[in-house]
Amino acid sequence: MFEAILIEKDSDGHRARLSTLGDERLPPGDVTVRVAYSTLNYKDALAITGKGPVVRSFPMVPGIDFAGVVEHSDDPAYGVGDSVVLNGWGVGEQHWGGLAGKARVKGGWLVPLQPPFTPRQAMAIGTAGYTAMLCVLALERHGVAPGRGEVLVTGAAGGVGSVAVAVLSKLGYRVAAVTGRPEEADYLASLGAKEILDRAQFSQPGKPLSKERWAGAVDVVGGQVLANVCSAMMYRGTVAACGLAGGMSLPATVAPFILRGVTLAGIDSVMCPREERLAAWWRLAEDLDPDKLASITEEIALPDVIPAAERLVAGRIRGRIVVPLAPG
Ligand code: NDP
Repeated sequence: MFEAILIEKDSDGHRARLSTLGDERLPPGDVTVRVAYSTLNYKDALAITGKGPVVRSFPMVPGIDFAGVVEHSDDPAYGVGDSVVLNGWGVGEQHWGGLAGKARVKGGWLVPLQPPFTPRQAMAIGTAGYTAMLCVLALERHGVAPGRGEVLVTGAAGGVGSVAVAVLSKLGYRVAAVTGRPEEADYLASLGAKEILDRAQFSQPGKPLSKERWAGAVDVVGGQVLANVCSAMMYRGTVAACGLAGGMSLPATVAPFILRGVTLAGIDSVMCPREERLAAWWRLAEDLDPDKLASITEEIALPDVIPAAERLVAGRIRGRIVVPLAPG
């Protein structure tokens, strides 16, 4: 038996509750993992609250990521006792996920836990932090280097944003952080942000092209904010766009792309190829200060995940949340 958050939807509506389940209810898969830690990401919060169409079949155990220890394996790549991490692949959306004491998945979806991370640190990073690193890798691929100019991070006090600020500042970039929460200015400065900008400055329709300001940007917000970020990119700058916390739309013009050679680099963590995942985890081990990671992390118990999901969707959670299941 194991504990899990279970999301159900029927004629009575959508609800998430803490449940105790038997192992026989685990979905098909070749590796069974005792989950040590999971986390609460934006997508998990949408799934739990029902505020976004994340869950594709019901009942569903949410949790798009987990770190744990292999309990049973029919995959020769993994043996009993191996420490593993999972991000994405539709887990927590169409296949039961990590907010549970146990998970059963395809071995090909797993990666080994990257030394020197503990399972707790891996989930403090979680899909949000791994996505932040995919954004950093995209900026680097497009030639954005610390000497090229300032970089901007939107939604900076959230999960992706906090890790992006911490990593980019450690790499030597001068980082400006956009937040709707001015009370988090000291927090963002402690992660390495050199300038804090009010989200309101980016929220209204702007010009197709504005003053060239940013060599690179990591955007988690989308919508009008992303449009305004694009219009203020320097010649040949790159925006890594990964999120929609402010909306799905993109009310922009092509001007920044055709007149300034700006690149809009799309970031997807869910189906990202294995080699890139491994590279991102390796770079996180190199370029994320463990003390900063600790400072952005809050731990909550499994039953508290449901109310925390409401707060996360409302943009009221700072940094990252980890959820211990069987920390060992
Ligand atoms: P969080 O909720 O932790 O952070 C999102 C941040 O966005 C908030 O903290 C807030 O930052 C800002 N924000 C919230 N609401 C609004 C709004 N209405 N308008 C403008 N800004 C807003 O989420 P995550 O960091 O975990 O995820 C961020 C986004 O990235 C989500 O959309 C998520 O779905 C996406 N994502 C995408 C992935 C991919 O594979 N492409 C993987 C992981 C995440 P502040 O208070 O500082 O302004």
